Amino acid sequence: MKHIVIIGGGIAGMQCAVELSSLGISATVIEKEHATGGKLASWHRLFPSFTPAEDVLGELRLKFAKAANISLRCGVTATEITPRKVTLSTGDELECDAVVLATGFTLFDARIKEEYGYGIYDNVVTSADLEDMFNRGEIVLKNGNKPRRIALLHCVGSRDEKVCQRHCSKVCCVTGVKQAIELKEMFPTADVFNFYMDIRMFGPGYEEMYREAQVKHNVHFVRGRISEVSPTIDGRLQLKAEDTLTGRPLKMSVDMLVLLVGMRANEENAELAARYGLQCQESGFMKPQDNFMHNVESNVEGIFYAGTITSPKSVGETLNEATTVALRIKDWLQKQ
Ligand SMILES: Cc1cc2nc3c(=O)[nH]c(=O)nc-3n(C[C@H](O)[C@H](O)[C@H](O)COP(=O)(O)OP(=O)(O)OC[C@H]3O[C@@H](n4cnc5c(N)ncnc54)[C@H](O)[C@@H]3O)c2cc1C
Ligand code: SF4
Repeated sequence: MKHIVIIGGGIAGMQCAVELSSLGISATVIEKEHATGGKLASWHRLFPSFTPAEDVLGELRLKFAKAANISLRCGVTATEITPRKVTLSTGDELECDAVVLATGFTLFDARIKEEYGYGIYDNVVTSADLEDMFNRGEIVLKNGNKPRRIALLHCVGSRDEKVCQRHCSKVCCVTGVKQAIELKEMFPTADVFNFYMDIRMFGPGYEEMYREAQVKHNVHFVRGRISEVSPTIDGRLQLKAEDTLTGRPLKMSVDMLVLLVGMRANEENAELAARYGLQCQESGFMKPQDNFMHNVESNVEGIFYAGTITSPKSVGETLNEATTVALRIKDWLQKQ
């Protein structure tokens, strides 16, 4: 039986293993953390349908557990990767017929944008923190009060030359709209403002969600970037921005600021490229052979990519791509 080593046990790696199993190909999944699921394990409800993330992950974990010929190694990394052999941090060597890299993405570290006060002022949180707060059912300010005025800031660590992240992270506009709706559902009388540069609602049902946020939930959308955040004497946050539609400067106090952090490439991608002759894009995400007919193949024969290792993607896109990888591998193995 042909055997594939998949590095990364997020949804891309898991789905790829499940699909390989259904095609009669065995797989070992290597996950550096102690559990599978990647970032999805931290999310609350998923755009665009508000489906609980745990339902999607639960179903995938069940399929993964039931599938034949999949083995999982958690808490380990790969120290040496070739298409025919992967060496683990334990010293074990895994012979294989191909390798799939499914190591995902890294959340932008909001502390780098010091002007927004993350890690400095109370009640400045990231979109990932907010997912965690939703999961705990606890959206409270540091003083224990409920927020009455909340701002969400788009493009934090994306489309930003200053922090060398020029790309659009693609999922944060829709995440920001989803989170604004969830906040309005929890606090119907609160004022919720989304500060955006452009609203990018590229997927099925996204534009409808954006309209619903405005019409049904009365979420306010302000076209402009916040330039500075400072604490006020009464424990609130003062935002300075420019409304770029009216051209007017704007000052506003809020109780909570949510930074919609971008998806950036893993730092280890550069090392993968240098050590194994793989290619990175300017954004740091790995570069597939092309964007069309070979979009899950790397430039090294026998090394494939699945999921957000090559670019920001939604959950649905990641799962679809992982399925494609399994099919391409089967095809490729038959031609060997
Ligand atoms: C704030 C936020 C909210 C989001 N909400 C939604 C939503 O509502 N709906 C939606 O469709 N999409 C959403 N997304 C996108 C979604 O998170 C991604 O599509 C999905 O997580 C991609 O999965 P992945 O497996 O490619 O990567 P990841 O989730 O990053 O998984 C990669 C896995 O690889 C492991 N790994 C990394 N390096 C190594 C290594 N060297 N060795 C071994 N293992 C390694 C990691 O530990 C991780 O388990 C959101 C994204 C963000 C940032
Ligand atoms: S998806 Fe929206 S918030 Fe995210 S980087 Fe692109 S434009 Fe900015």
